[in-house]
Amino acid sequence: MNRLFITTFFTLILTVLSFGEKIKVIATIFPNYDFARNIGKEMAEVTLLLPPGVEAHSYEPTPRDMVRITTSDILLYTGEDMEPWVHRMSRNLPDSVTICDLSHGVNKVEDEDHGHSDPHIWTDPLLAMQMVDNVTEAFIQADPKNREYYTQNSKAYKNKLYQLHQKIEKELSSIDRRDVVFAGHMVFGYFAKRYDLTFTTPYRSFSPDAEPTPRRMAELITTIKKGGYSHIYFEELINPKSAKLIARETGAEILLLHGAHNLSKEDLKAGKSYIDIMEGNLKNLKRGLKK
Ligand SMILES: [Zn+2]
Repeated sequence: MNRLFITTFFTLILTVLSFGEKIKVIATIFPNYDFARNIGKEMAEVTLLLPPGVEAHSYEPTPRDMVRITTSDILLYTGEDMEPWVHRMSRNLPDSVTICDLSHGVNKVEDEDHGHSDPHIWTDPLLAMQMVDNVTEAFIQADPKNREYYTQNSKAYKNKLYQLHQKIEKELSSIDRRDVVFAGHMVFGYFAKRYDLTFTTPYRSFSPDAEPTPRRMAELITTIKKGGYSHIYFEELINPKSAKLIARETGAEILLLHGAHNLSKEDLKAGKSYIDIMEGNLKNLKRGLKK
């Protein structure tokens, strides 16, 4: 057998073996994971890096995660402010990994000290559509032969996101009050801006690490009593002790506003989607913002 024949033969075998093999996608947080599932569908094996129920902002990858990322085709992250470790590790990743910053092209809002920008872009469905465009680009770059497939899935999913946006816009246009008291960290800035709401929170930060000071809590309790709020909101996956304390002091009821960073084991098992979460939030907002 000549050399050319052997080379051709083995190339053929490798092509046959890789045919039908799914591309491996690692998504750092839940929205990225859900968007990737909707674009890759049966062509992709999408893994959520965060273990179920774990707080997203303080997460650092384990050595096992590092191995999974190194052997993947695509790494989807939310941006420098959400996953600062990606930048650190990207230098050591092989060229075979397509690294995609889902906030690429999005105008992010900075905090008062211009020290950090708000990473929670997915809370606005129209910005989520931009994130989906970035995900789609990454899929096409990593697997160009299926360009048409990813483009079609992307179009269909963005349609759903746009419908979600229209529904939220319409249903929130007729609520009685537009000021939300949220006992969690600063998650809903982009959402509030899109739908003309204001959020008051005892937190000062884009991450739940630093708990609110007693003074901020006391100020908030006064605001609630004066403002006659019937409901206040708490965030997912974190012990709602601030919310419970405020509720006890003011008589307000507590409702969930889910920031979608990550899901509980039960919600993941039940197949909850980003759109389900946003619709749940809409329902609770309509309930709590009635006079
Ligand atoms: Zn957050």
